[in-house]
Amino acid sequence: MTKKDTKLVGLGREPSLHAGAVNTPVYRMSTVLFPDVETLVDGNQPYTYGRRGTPTTRALEDAFCELEGGARTVLTPSGLSACMLAILTVCGAGDHMLVTDSIYGTTRISCQRLAKRLGINVTFFAPTTTAAKLKEQFRPETKAVFLESPGSITFEVQDVPAIAAAAHEKGIAVIFDNTWATPLHFDALGHGVDLSVQSATKYIGGHADVLLGAVTANAAYKERLVHAHGDLGLCASGDDAFLTLRGLRTLSVRLKRHQESATELAIWLKTRPEVARVLYPPLHDDPGHVLWKRDFTGGCGLFSIVLRDASDEAVAAMLNGMKHFSLGYSWGGFESLALPCRYHRSFPKKFEGPLVRLHIGLENVDDLKADLVAAFERLRGVS
Ligand SMILES: *Cc1c(COP(=O)(O)O)cnc(C)c1O
Repeated sequence: MTKKDTKLVGLGREPSLHAGAVNTPVYRMSTVLFPDVETLVDGNQPYTYGRRGTPTTRALEDAFCELEGGARTVLTPSGLSACMLAILTVCGAGDHMLVTDSIYGTTRISCQRLAKRLGINVTFFAPTTTAAKLKEQFRPETKAVFLESPGSITFEVQDVPAIAAAAHEKGIAVIFDNTWATPLHFDALGHGVDLSVQSATKYIGGHADVLLGAVTANAAYKERLVHAHGDLGLCASGDDAFLTLRGLRTLSVRLKRHQESATELAIWLKTRPEVARVLYPPLHDDPGHVLWKRDFTGGCGLFSIVLRDASDEAVAAMLNGMKHFSLGYSWGGFESLALPCRYHRSFPKKFEGPLVRLHIGLENVDDLKADLVAAFERLRGVS
């Protein structure tokens, strides 16, 4: 079978259809013209209206679908809209959904606000809940379990196959936010997921200049996904699809480098007196390591550190004035980022001190280490 990194080179492009161009060009189109009334009425022309797809967006959808091993992928304007689309594909008024407490923060807010207003009842569960325990929370009206693993900010790893098996016994759909590992490092559908969500804004776009989401369904949920996507009028621009296809080409080399540098820094950070612990499942002593090793084929450059007790001022002094790490939301681009974390959880985890999330970019790892050494000096200067 063709390996995934080989697929990344060839997916979503067909030079013979585009004047021999190696890359699928950007199609900007809303109106699509029909040669005659008969073709328009039959509706069997491949492209009918820009919102319903263009050669550029279809190329990217097909590429994602092949990588995820799904039946159909649809694109959305952002990762968040992809999360909400997956939910609206399976849940409606009166339904109940179980959501991991480690879900991406903005997905949590949308669950508490929009989903609630639509009559979808949401219960959050602790990310380390076992499948057996989670089953006790299934209700007759439970329609979906929403997982994210490793979870946002705290990086707990979930037993996806076990939870999926329990959910499927009751006809409950499993939605999984696969942004951290990407389809390259976690085969979501192969582990029992029904709807796999990507914020392609992160590693797949990879250059901090495009927002895009995708949902991939297995055969059982394909039709409902396509309908929900169409009903909500969701689509993506040709330019964004083009940039994302371009990012896809280098995904495997970038991820390899992100993971190598992140692992080196994570191991070093564990030895620092200012750091109480490092939350990164590829580390051998991480609580999620065993499951991660069993189910994932790689990691990435994103992890958090827990500082020993430090004041807000000390954390600010640490993060202000870094040379190579910048302050900013999002991650998955080529550049290193640091973020002081505040998170809202229903199951408060007792950490020793404040959390800082680091995205390890493609800079030389020695420069990043020196930047962190200087940052710790500033931290100690205040506390
Ligand atoms: C960033 C992120 C999202 C949202 O993606 P956007 O493209 O920013 O809307 C969803 N899930 C996870 C895990 C993320 O990190």
